[in-house]
Amino acid sequence: MKTEIQRQVKFLSLKKVNNKYEKDLLEALSSVVNSGYFIRGKQTILFEENFAKYIGSKYVIGVGNGLDALRLIIRGYIVLGKLQKNDSILVPNNTFVASVLAIREEGLQPILVPPSETTYNIESSKIEAYIQDNTTAIMPVHLYGMPAYNDVLEKVIKKHQLIVIEDNAQAVGALYKSKKTGSLGHAAGISFYPSKNLGALGDAGAVVTSDSDLARIVRILSNYGSEKKYYHDYQGFNSRLDEIQAAVLNVKLKGIDADNQQRSIIAQQYIYNIKNPYIKLPCIQDNCTHVWHLFVIRCSHKDQLQQYLMKNGVETQIHYPIAMSNQTVFSDLKDQHCEATSKMQNEILSLPMSPVMEDDEVKYVIQTINKFEPWI
Ligand SMILES: *Cc1c(COP(=O)(O)O)cnc(C)c1O
Repeated sequence: MKTEIQRQVKFLSLKKVNNKYEKDLLEALSSVVNSGYFIRGKQTILFEENFAKYIGSKYVIGVGNGLDALRLIIRGYIVLGKLQKNDSILVPNNTFVASVLAIREEGLQPILVPPSETTYNIESSKIEAYIQDNTTAIMPVHLYGMPAYNDVLEKVIKKHQLIVIEDNAQAVGALYKSKKTGSLGHAAGISFYPSKNLGALGDAGAVVTSDSDLARIVRILSNYGSEKKYYHDYQGFNSRLDEIQAAVLNVKLKGIDADNQQRSIIAQQYIYNIKNPYIKLPCIQDNCTHVWHLFVIRCSHKDQLQQYLMKNGVETQIHYPIAMSNQTVFSDLKDQHCEATSKMQNEILSLPMSPVMEDDEVKYVIQTINKFEPWI
């Protein structure tokens, strides 16, 4: 019997992603070791400048991770009197836990809004129905790399004068009406977790804003609430970007546009060549440039599809398998109407996607998917 050679396509190889930067990364790391400076030195200052320019915002504060970035923005607005404890913040039900956790950890109430069936981002036409008297802010998540903004969302924000805290963990480099995500609202939290489009070699994050008051207070809060050493005017905590990660990010920021371009080429190949009546492809919203952090398809026989792909060597994942309203930790948020999220979660599947996927890997994924047929 002839046995076919089984191909293996990994969901993501971080080793390969970083390989192309290896020489520059090692040089950058060695220069940090030799500098003797490890927290908030030259590399961090340089990265904060470079990244502010890249996003098109006035200020960047390097912090420990994406969750802390979101927490620091909320805490900053509380100190400035623009948010109050017990205010509620609109946030999509289909997101990574950090968005909702940040709101709760700072003593505010998340209001979970279902996603759009077509974009998977917060359903802007439903938002108004969820606004309560104490709703003062919204946290749009640019999920999978596509901006969550659209005309309806912009109108709701304006009408209700909401503070906009963007969760831009997944969409560094994405554009809405020619502006980068992260510069659309009042402030944005960014994650440089290794698997993100701009990934460090460990945990790292940033707060981005053009509001000088917020920038100042976030910098203080992230450094033990202290502006002058050993004088503590605010209850802060410790969440700083370190020099090693800043040096890594300075190297990798130079390649982010090329990496995103590569993701886009792969996405186009998927979109043009996946032809299977059981599969629904992602759509790109008007006025948006998608950076394809994830390529998410939809299939009413998702479990069978995932099994079939696994058997044929193609690794897939689900982002995210459980709605925030169905998480044990948020069981008190359960009573909100979020059926749309659960339905969607039963059908979504993320295909392999990264700037270093080889052409023959992309072709193999496409061929394999095109041959899929549900067995029941
Ligand atoms: C990754 C991620 C975060 C959190 O980032 P960390 O750096 O892991 O804390 C927040 N929100 C979303 C949508 C994310 O994907």
